[in-house]
Amino acid sequence: MEAIKNKNILAHRYLDGISKEKWSMAHDGGWRRGVMTTNMSECLNSVLKGARRLPISAIVHLTLLRCVQYFIERVTKGQRMVQENQLWSDYARRKYEEWAKKSSEHRVVKYDVRSQTAQVATGGRPSRGQHMQVVRISTTDCSCGKWTIFGIPCSHAICTAKWHSLDPTTLVQSWYNISEYLATYEGRFEPLADERYWDRPTFELQHNPVRRERRRAGVSDERGQLIA
Ligand SMILES: [Zn+2]
Repeated sequence: MEAIKNKNILAHRYLDGISKEKWSMAHDGGWRRGVMTTNMSECLNSVLKGARRLPISAIVHLTLLRCVQYFIERVTKGQRMVQENQLWSDYARRKYEEWAKKSSEHRVVKYDVRSQTAQVATGGRPSRGQHMQVVRISTTDCSCGKWTIFGIPCSHAICTAKWHSLDPTTLVQSWYNISEYLATYEGRFEPLADERYWDRPTFELQHNPVRRERRRAGVSDERGQLIA
């Protein structure tokens, strides 16, 4: 918070008034799993790009088509991962491989066999850039926070697991399994019938020419309504 305060006092004041778990991964107890609100809205935006300011029926058609296309691409990707005998999705595999490689640069300096806990030093020799992290295998937790956030053992956890003769691949959360990936996209889309067969709406849509007016600088307020 001090770093934010030094950069922008207004931003600090704004964030200070909001519970930290609502905007920070470090304080959310691991519930976001590395996905921030902006990631989710960008994901939806990428699927529905170009579907704004169209007639409502066109938006419904386009949304259906884009979602069907999105699911087809994911199912195809899932089948490719099955053929390549992958254990986890591409995302989890990339992260695990990166951290497994990094784990060879760490070393365990203190450990407790009974509780499978270890203090892990990053880097080879003690230096100013060296950090110490504490890993607890029993509670799937590392002081760096990455294991809790992503559900994938961080480089320190992989190093500790190997030290205790455990297979670190068994510490990756099951939701990254290919079977889970495929189950996410196994839903079916019902074809959309012709408009004549749709249920009659219980409301009436009204055309609002002001809302459809193109915004021009200096002549509209934040709600898009013309001032001049
Ligand atoms: Zn760690």
